Amino acid sequence: MPALTRLFQKLKQLKSPKLIAVVEAAHTQAFEEIDCMTCANCCKTISPRFNATDIDRIAKYERLKSSEFIDKYLTQDQDGDFVTTVRPCPFLQEDNACRIYDIRPKDCRGYPHTDSPNFAAMERYHTKNADVCPATVRVLALLQLEMRK
Ligand code: SF4
Ligand code: SF4
Repeated sequence: MPALTRLFQKLKQLKSPKLIAVVEAAHTQAFEEIDCMTCANCCKTISPRFNATDIDRIAKYERLKSSEFIDKYLTQDQDGDFVTTVRPCPFLQEDNACRIYDIRPKDCRGYPHTDSPNFAAMERYHTKNADVCPATVRVLALLQLEMRK
């Protein structure tokens, strides 16, 4: 059985308060060690989904109609979700700051969800994110260490 599958099996066996505590501790340590502003790999390589509310909000900020915003920046993926036409994200600036940070899509806000109370049920999500996000890799490594104690 792959090591990550074993890890998630062990996490699922933890009672909720303990699970939340170990996940939060790993998340906090990982983001103390890794600075998103020197990484930005998520913004460079994958796209958030833009829901209708995101599109209306950001289009208004850009002084565009929602349809014009879609034409300018977005395409639909195979699930029918709106994603950016290009990568890196067109709102990522040279210094790795997000040009629309305060009004960024909902998807961007919680990413990579390594502090989620549902962490143990998100094996596929976190395993996939480990290809993109060094903080996720670090969280998983810290949890593996913790669960060996
Ligand atoms: S909208 Fe901002 S936070 Fe979201 S992917 Fe683009 S640059 Fe990154
Ligand atoms: S890929 Fe992970 S570590 Fe890198 S900027 Fe995104 S959330 Fe931060």
